Amino acid sequence: MFWALFVLGHDCGHGSFSSSRRLNDAVGHALHSFILVPYHGWRLSHKKHHGNHGHVENDESWTPLTKSQWDVLVGVALLELWVWWNLGSMLAGCEVCFATLKFRCG
Ligand SMILES: [Zn+2]
Repeated sequence: MFWALFVLGHDCGHGSFSSSRRLNDAVGHALHSFILVPYHGWRLSHKKHHGNHGHVENDESWTPLTKSQWDVLVGVALLELWVWWNLGSMLAGCEVCFATLKFRCG
């Protein structure tokens, strides 16, 4: 249930819940308050996340490893990291984020 509320709030943050900015902010604030995630702070950092997705230095939500960090990972540690990143991506709903951006940005 919390995830569903977050997804609706996420849509509000992207402006895709309604064509009204006020309605998006009101619903997003209410939903995110219920799940204890400050809406406007999240909305601003999430906007920066989408603007810099996957960037080693500028993405606030997902910070990939640097080459030197990758170089020290071997075998099982690398496989474990790969599994957790892919699992995390699914749980974080990145596909929803990308679909939303693609829809909104053309
Ligand atoms: Zn998003």
